[in-house]
Amino acid sequence: MNTFDVAIIGGGLVGLATALQLTRRGQLRLIVLEAEPDVAQHQSGHNSGVIHSGLYYKPGSHRAHLCTAGREAMYRFCEEHGIAHERCGKVVVAVDEREIPALDELERRGRANGLDGLQRLTRAQIHEHEPHVAGIAGLWVPQTGIVDYRAVAQKYADHVRAAGGEIRLDARLNKCERRGDELILGASADEFRARNLINCSGLQCDRVARICGADPGVRIVPFRGEYYELTPERRNLVKGLIYPVPDPRFPFLGVHFTRTVSGAVEAGPNAVIAFHREGYRRWQMSPRDLFDYVSYAGFWRMASKYWKTGLGEMHRSFSKRAFHCALQRLMPPLQIGDIQPLGAGVRAQALDRNGALVDDFRFVQAERMIHVLNAPSPAATASLSIGETIAAMAMRDFRLRS
Ligand SMILES: Cc1cc2nc3c(=O)[nH]c(=O)nc-3n(C[C@H](O)[C@H](O)[C@H](O)COP(=O)(O)OP(=O)(O)OC[C@H]3O[C@@H](n4cnc5c(N)ncnc54)[C@H](O)[C@@H]3O)c2cc1C
Repeated sequence: MNTFDVAIIGGGLVGLATALQLTRRGQLRLIVLEAEPDVAQHQSGHNSGVIHSGLYYKPGSHRAHLCTAGREAMYRFCEEHGIAHERCGKVVVAVDEREIPALDELERRGRANGLDGLQRLTRAQIHEHEPHVAGIAGLWVPQTGIVDYRAVAQKYADHVRAAGGEIRLDARLNKCERRGDELILGASADEFRARNLINCSGLQCDRVARICGADPGVRIVPFRGEYYELTPERRNLVKGLIYPVPDPRFPFLGVHFTRTVSGAVEAGPNAVIAFHREGYRRWQMSPRDLFDYVSYAGFWRMASKYWKTGLGEMHRSFSKRAFHCALQRLMPPLQIGDIQPLGAGVRAQALDRNGALVDDFRFVQAERMIHVLNAPSPAATASLSIGETIAAMAMRDFRLRS
């Protein structure tokens, strides 16, 4: 049996970009183990398709610098490989005086994160960008764009294979034992040997860390994000991307309008606690997934602080009228009949023991291992930069030869 230099667990954008960046650095025997029959079947294939600018993130954080660098790397990658994308810009809109301080803070963060061309908008200027939007003030962000991340993930996978890396599908890691200086990895019915391991398993990353003998120190809580789409005849209400001012206490951006590369217009996603880590339908329930967070003290600490917001999100999940109201706040001419249900995605959000939703990307090193324990949005945008960061850590810590 071959011994691989590195085994990467998870064939989403983060795992594949890490594999791609490692193959660019050295002649390594590398394998990606992916549980599903194809790559990008979870978060990387169920998202809004936005190339984020870097506006929202605390200056100095991983999210701020990896998003701004990753965004430009993503545009370059799409241009080089003919992947449909558009640098269309977006407007963030305040509809209420009480949102102005948070809009000011976004502008400050955007400038601190190096976003050139940010422009404060008056009501009339908002209408020049988006004629049907109601807002008292806005922010124009020219760097934001759109792309199809499934196509990006397939292209990453092609590059990894072309560079000699192996991607094994239908291979769910269920065992990891140390034997001498090797790791014996059980994945579905097969066994693999590797000297080093990188855990990029998204919604399962805390469990995979435990399988590998590491204490993740956080628990993944799944937040479903549900979408509607505008009926084809009402797509003309939206020119590009329209976002509300987000609640600064939460890592989610609030329901927004997104024009996709295929020309459709999506509205959403909300953020509802899910009963299944990989459950895309509302009533899908996994007793194990549910037990995992209800038995965690951090969950109840979070719930005691934010139960009101959580109930509001639940209400919006069950009531089309409530979802429509949130959208109509941004766009008064939108009628309830103008939207129809679309699919959903599930976010992997790490929660700590104190009940805090972990804000930044989290990379944790253990002996011969690196665990990615929080890679929420904008990790799709930032995937090439995240991959580069992890590849540099791996080359150094695993003593790989370039
Ligand atoms: C609704 C929604 C909207 C979003 N919108 C955006 C956006 O517009 N822009 C943006 O930048 N980001 C967005 N994001 C965030 C972005 O999609 C994720 O941050 C990113 O895709 C994370 O990639 P990943 O590789 O870490 O996780 P994933 O894509 O979830 O990949 C993890 C992989 O690991 C595999 N796996 C799990 N367990 C095992 C195991 N035991 N063995 C082997 N394989 C395993 C899974 O099958 C999966 O393929 C959004 C996310 C969601 C859910």
